[in-house]
Amino acid sequence: MKIVCIGRNYAEHAKELGNATPSEPVFFLKPSTACTYPGHPILLPPIEGEIAYELELVVMIDGYAKDVPVSMALGMVSSFTLGLDLTARTLQNELKAKGLPWEKAKAWDGSAVIGDVELPMTSTTDLQALAIELKKNGGTVQKDTTANMLFNVQTLISYVSRYITLEPGDLLFTGTPAGVGPIAEGDVLEGFINGKRLLHATVGKR
Ligand code: MG
Repeated sequence: MKIVCIGRNYAEHAKELGNATPSEPVFFLKPSTACTYPGHPILLPPIEGEIAYELELVVMIDGYAKDVPVSMALGMVSSFTLGLDLTARTLQNELKAKGLPWEKAKAWDGSAVIGDVELPMTSTTDLQALAIELKKNGGTVQKDTTANMLFNVQTLISYVSRYITLEPGDLLFTGTPAGVGPIAEGDVLEGFINGKRLLHATVGKR
């Protein structure tokens, strides 16, 4: 499996990092070795500088998608949860300044924290009307609605599938709202969808 991550998909977040609002989706990949599964601690990488949380709606792909039309793209989604797209921010800024790929700052072991998958898609699920919230050490640090995505989930799946075939088991991280910030050893991170806690991870010792 692979993880496809969308960047700059909420205008307020693009702004907080000094990026322009994109005219088409921005995406990058994380390998399967990036996953931190439920019940496991976040292990900080051996990278200097800030490591940041980014709470994101994550959808599970349940079919082969190649050039899938927008109108059929949601049929590829079996379930959804929350994830943290952990980012070595200082390093990412250095890479961006040099015009280099972001993988070293984004794709390290453990950098994709996955929540509990308890929310299967039903006929009434609206992926663009979910309240998502991240608490760090009990205090809210990110809070938004998926209605504020610049590109909705079906558009993202269709767009990515023009370039990369999506396969069963792949995960799509759909971008983070504003409020990103650093994590440190001992921090407790909790993610909620519509008030239901689906993600709970502690930052452990390396
Ligand atoms: Mg992200």
